Amino acid sequence: MAKYVFGIDLGTTYSCIAYVDETGRATVVNNSEGTNTTPSVVNFASPNQVVVGQVAKENAVIDPNNTISLVKTLMGKSDFATNYNGEDKSPEEVSAYILRKVTEDASKLIDAEVKDVVITCPAYFGTAERTATKNAGIIAGLNVLEIISEPTAAALYYGCAKEQDEKTILVFDLGGGTFDVTIMSISSEKIEVVCSDGNHELGGKDWDEAVMRYLAEEFIAQTGFDGEFDEYAQQDMRLKAEKAKQQLSSREEVPVMLDAAGLRARISLSRDKFDEITSTLLGEAIDKTDAAIAVAKDKGYAIDEILLVGGSTRMPQVTEALVSRYGMEPKILEPDEAVAKGAAIHAVNVYVNNQKSLEPDAAGETTVTVGGTTKEINADDYKEELAVQPEMMSIGGKTQKVVVATTKSFAVEVSVNNGSVCHNMIIKNQAMPDGSISVSEEFGTKDANQENVEIVVYESDFMDENFDIDPDLVLGTATLELSGDLPARAPIEVTFTLNTEGILEVSGVDKTTNREVHATMQSKGIMAVEKVDELKEKSKKMVVM
Ligand code: ADP
Ligand code: MG
Repeated sequence: MAKYVFGIDLGTTYSCIAYVDETGRATVVNNSEGTNTTPSVVNFASPNQVVVGQVAKENAVIDPNNTISLVKTLMGKSDFATNYNGEDKSPEEVSAYILRKVTEDASKLIDAEVKDVVITCPAYFGTAERTATKNAGIIAGLNVLEIISEPTAAALYYGCAKEQDEKTILVFDLGGGTFDVTIMSISSEKIEVVCSDGNHELGGKDWDEAVMRYLAEEFIAQTGFDGEFDEYAQQDMRLKAEKAKQQLSSREEVPVMLDAAGLRARISLSRDKFDEITSTLLGEAIDKTDAAIAVAKDKGYAIDEILLVGGSTRMPQVTEALVSRYGMEPKILEPDEAVAKGAAIHAVNVYVNNQKSLEPDAAGETTVTVGGTTKEINADDYKEELAVQPEMMSIGGKTQKVVVATTKSFAVEVSVNNGSVCHNMIIKNQAMPDGSISVSEEFGTKDANQENVEIVVYESDFMDENFDIDPDLVLGTATLELSGDLPARAPIEVTFTLNTEGILEVSGVDKTTNREVHATMQSKGIMAVEKVDELKEKSKKMVVM
């Protein structure tokens, strides 16, 4: 069997899988229903069977208690389990079933093993969310080569990196449940995030709801219906609203047939009307885009190009609004496939790089470095040749450095006057050119003869130098034991080192006696390794349809 590696866009509302074929082209693999994307909806049909995709989405109303949508919005909150069939399901486990659906379908369709994957996540995902995404892959039985940001993947697919000159691109990603805008600086050598913003509540579903409201009003006007729409009628209307919206992307007008309470109406919706009833929603996305452009401008960047990502950017109103606002024609290829395809391209790069490093080092160990972390591997797992020769790919087999930025700020608690504040050492959106960032600062002990120093670390979105203590944001604590005879203000050096996988190494050194403490911190929401293994075993017993 030919060996392929895959890219998976694990989306809030739709997921997609792609690989780079023998000719070097990134290609999406359809699911067994024959569509290129799969609704990220999971239905626990029975104790040993899970239904994922369109069928689960259409049955959501008949079986609401056993159906989960939008699980991505819970990623990184692994204690946020939802109870189904009397059992707690973590976001990782639910996401694992989505991953199994797309990978098992793909495996059947192209008759190849689907094992090595790159999975994407939003640019704003922090440590907990990224680790949860990776764990979902592990639970699904996959070997997760790397987690990369969706806009980075999209930029790789759009081939932005081919040109020599450095340029600044804006990725406008309007999906089904969220809107993300990311500005990146790109050259043939590297991809670097300048800033990212968005609205995690704004997506295609809001356009659907606007259409639903319109359909309901028209139905009432035509039929004189004066009752309440029951949940079946609402579900039916929701599916028809989404379909009508999609059809309006290529047609000027669509008819919608509605049945409810024994009454029937034929409602016609024009694109002009649709644009009118959704204009405030589009306005919100444009406002966020303006804000991101302003931040980038402050940092000295001007936008050279706009890329459209996300199924909702197929709506002509998006391009029209961007052209009229910024006087620039955005690039649009296959917006709902771009992220998965870019991830597939990246998967080849990572895989090939891993293979290059398969020679044992001086100590006789074989290691790979992924995202700044070096780990020992079993060389046999990596020895296989890929079906594609990377030289055939559009970027000519050149591996590009993906420079990511920090997605969260990390602070240490310090005493000031009569209280304490959080003092940021690593600030969100800082570039990590070498795959990691390390910051050291010197503080002093508070009192004389202190027995120890508690280094309390906070993870947050705050970008100011100092902010108020919030116990909910504590990432972890490292205790530096002292000799007990130091004077007040004895120097203590604290170092934070963050890698691109979001793992934070914290160290504290008492500069007087050289006592040290080291700790590795992970966000609270991260699942224990044993639990991941347990779920992996459990997942194997479930049939995914
Ligand atoms: P995700 O939100 O999971 O990233 P997508 O990028 O695939 O998913 O976006 C899904 C959204 O795109 C849905 O709201 C869907 O209705 C919408 N969409 C898909 N195709 C079209 C189309 N042709 N016209 C308008 N909207 C579309
Ligand atoms: Mg998406």
